[in-house]
Amino acid sequence: KPQKERQRLPVLPQGIEREAFFAALDELSGQIGAENVEVNDKPLKDGWYMEHPNTHDMMTILDEEELVASAVVYPSSTGEVQAIVRWANKHLIPIYPISIGRNLGYGGAAPRVRGSVVLDLGKRMKQIINIDPDDHTCLVEPGVSFYALYEAIKEKGYDHLWTDPPDLGGGSIIGNTLDRGVGYTPYGDHWACHSGLEVVLPTGEVFRTGMGALPGSNTWQTFPYGFGPYSDGIFSQSNYGIVTKMGMTLMANPGGHESFMYTFQKEEDLAQLIEIIRPLRISNILENVAQLRHVIQTIAVRGQPRTTYYQGSGTIPDDVVHATAATLPTGDCTWIYYGMAYGPAHIRQHKLGIIDAEFKRVRGARRVDPATLPADEYFWSRDRIASGVPDLHELRWVNWVPNGAHVAFSPVSPIRGADAERLLALARRRHDDAGFDFFPAFCVGLREMHLIIEIVFDRDDPERRAAAMACLRHMIDDAAACGYGEYRTHLVLMDQVAGTYSWNDNALMKFNEKLKDALDPNGILSPGRCGIWPKRYRGRGWEM
Ligand code: ADP
Repeated sequence: KPQKERQRLPVLPQGIEREAFFAALDELSGQIGAENVEVNDKPLKDGWYMEHPNTHDMMTILDEEELVASAVVYPSSTGEVQAIVRWANKHLIPIYPISIGRNLGYGGAAPRVRGSVVLDLGKRMKQIINIDPDDHTCLVEPGVSFYALYEAIKEKGYDHLWTDPPDLGGGSIIGNTLDRGVGYTPYGDHWACHSGLEVVLPTGEVFRTGMGALPGSNTWQTFPYGFGPYSDGIFSQSNYGIVTKMGMTLMANPGGHESFMYTFQKEEDLAQLIEIIRPLRISNILENVAQLRHVIQTIAVRGQPRTTYYQGSGTIPDDVVHATAATLPTGDCTWIYYGMAYGPAHIRQHKLGIIDAEFKRVRGARRVDPATLPADEYFWSRDRIASGVPDLHELRWVNWVPNGAHVAFSPVSPIRGADAERLLALARRRHDDAGFDFFPAFCVGLREMHLIIEIVFDRDDPERRAAAMACLRHMIDDAAACGYGEYRTHLVLMDQVAGTYSWNDNALMKFNEKLKDALDPNGILSPGRCGIWPKRYRGRGWEM
């Protein structure tokens, strides 16, 4: 290797001598091939979404070297994953599996323990094992992205099958589902829509959940439960196993779809609007995740830096936001609702009529005619995603600041106006204190809503990184004090968020730790992920 490529010393897993570590890597090379074992000794490259790194978080909120891999390994099969797990147990080396590692805003590909060996499953295990056009299901490996599944379905000419991509389509179906990510068709709750897992346990055994446990079963992807305790749950947002295959249900093409967009004038319209949304969503008149976004996001997603609109100091003033919105196809407003109606025209018309009457109870509500919107308007990105077509447009708002990165605050609440107002107020206060423009979006699942607030910060500025971190920490604590918890969080906030789920003297975490110790006695698998530390690490200062 040319000298200039070797500018970094690899980070070692703590407690392992350099010689012993390299000897262990040589041993692993003997098992899976030297070309599939890569020491992380080159300068860390951030790349971009489509060429993201697998060694660290390209949108780091800490110093980039803090949560970084010592090496990356590339298994090609479940058998090789088992071999790597046994190797990790033998040498007590922490390993951290990723599927594709595009988990932007939540830690990317970074391991929670510095110097872990990252298992990049996505590079070589990316087979779509089956697409069943009758059952409307598929079985995929970790490296299958939403784009790849979408393309494969198109290629086979299965026009009657739909996929369900999240906001950005380049991520892994397995990775997103395990982290309980969401999409925007009626199949948006990915975890609820999966059926069957194949899991390598931290001690190296492999098993299949649900009907997959019955030899010869042909219902692994159609009946998720099987017989006995439903074990799938413990493999989502955890560190109890490595998922090597997952079944996913596919939506039937509904025979027509139509996006709609409403704008609402005042920030104070929020409470009334949320009260209107609740019964419509629960009764499925609003058929997909209801998205209510602040207009500032629609401005930012045009991809121009904030300085295009505002050159002053401090956060962007409301009047600038409104004046800007007034010049755009959306017109002046505060909230924008993006939704879709599904089915043939007469069915859509029925639902759209009810929605129109209800939304227009809010003074100043306006339906924007999609025919007036140019092809590159963000509306069409939402239109693609809600009709199962993967997209990347969403990422453009990271251009808001130089070296833009983002990190999310995602509390869950009931679908009530009072809760929406309370969360909005506490988050806005912390944003104002920290000097961040405020990007709130309410996403109504079915009976609950997530408020997703993305902090967009300059990742090359240590002061802004620290400010983003402090702002998030305050919001998590403020929200918990009012009874709100996050549905998902960034790697560096997992201890704090896990700590808020503390009912009855942390009974939940005690249970999680008991499971961890039973399943992973050597504590090698993703230590610390979701706040779950194995015995070997517990109480030794690893928590953040
Ligand atoms: P995506 O590329 O879809 O955003 P990632 O591959 O980054 O998703 O996965 C998100 C997180 O979920 C990872 O950091 C990892 O902790 C966990 N994870 C991903 N894939 C697996 C897997 N196959 N088995 C166990 N955990 C996984």
